Amino acid sequence: MTDSAITEQTILAGLDAGEFVYYYQPKVSLITGKVIGAEALIRWQRPDGQTVLPNDFIPLAEQTGLIKQISYRMFAKLARDLLIFSDIDSRLVTSVNASAQDFADGRFCTMVLETLEQLCIPTKNLQIEITETTVLNADPDVRKNIQTLCDAGVGLAMDDYGTGYSTLETLSQWPFTTIKLDRSIVGRMLDNPKNQTIAESSIRMAHELDIGIVAEGVESDLQYQMLLESGCTKVQGYWLSRPLPLSDFIYFIQQDLRWSGLPIGLIHMAI
Ligand code: C2E
Ligand code: MG
Ligand code: MG
Ligand code: MG
Repeated sequence: MTDSAITEQTILAGLDAGEFVYYYQPKVSLITGKVIGAEALIRWQRPDGQTVLPNDFIPLAEQTGLIKQISYRMFAKLARDLLIFSDIDSRLVTSVNASAQDFADGRFCTMVLETLEQLCIPTKNLQIEITETTVLNADPDVRKNIQTLCDAGVGLAMDDYGTGYSTLETLSQWPFTTIKLDRSIVGRMLDNPKNQTIAESSIRMAHELDIGIVAEGVESDLQYQMLLESGCTKVQGYWLSRPLPLSDFIYFIQQDLRWSGLPIGLIHMAI
């Protein structure tokens, strides 16, 4: 699909036709080597077999305000998947990306909490990922609605940590439960000692603030080892697994449960 074919109308038609799905990228504990959850990443599966990635339609959806409909309507799908995951292992935490507009009024939050309650899914099994830009430009309503989710027990992750400006202030003023170390930092860790120090101090800070830390974009054994030595506790990245369609992710966690003790790095080769 060419860029010009991605319009408000085609996105809406795709939503109506159920062409949007979530892929799930496993997150793994560096302490146990086990899958602890996943990040839900939206994909647009066109009838012609093409899969359109979020960077090709989320910016337009945000510009036009359509993102609110996407997030709202896709949550029902996400919740059904959460139910499957919690049946397999009730400790799995799934995170989903959200945009500032999702919190401009209380409808998204209310629907999320009602849906979780109806399906008896504990709020702790869900985490919302927002970027620092969302936080920096947040008006009082956005803040209030995010706080409502957090008060109900939903986790809040700061996405792409290390790419913004005033992260320290933001972290102390918002109820973040996790930071996600951006893949640009993880990717440069091995280049020189300075970058390693930046990664290590972020990890230390998260521990001192008593919040979780997930390193994103782990692509090699060397990065994995360095994160392990730096005290990082959770990782996500192609080296562990690419984002997987629902059925593949389910297979992935089932294999992981069955083969406890499988050395990390072989997990992704097992499927
Ligand atoms: P993000 O939230 O930072 O998601 C991580 C992105 O990095 C994903 O790209 C993932 O596939 C990619 N990634 C994961 N591991 C690696 C790795 O080891 N190496 C490299 N090079 N990349 C890796 P994706 O799925 O294309 O998503 C891009 C962005 O689109 C996301 O960045 C997020 O900001 C946004 N997005 C995705 N799904 C949604 C959604 O449902 N709603 C909203 N509002 N935004 C979404
Ligand atoms: Mg994210
Ligand atoms: Mg990220
Ligand atoms: Mg991002």
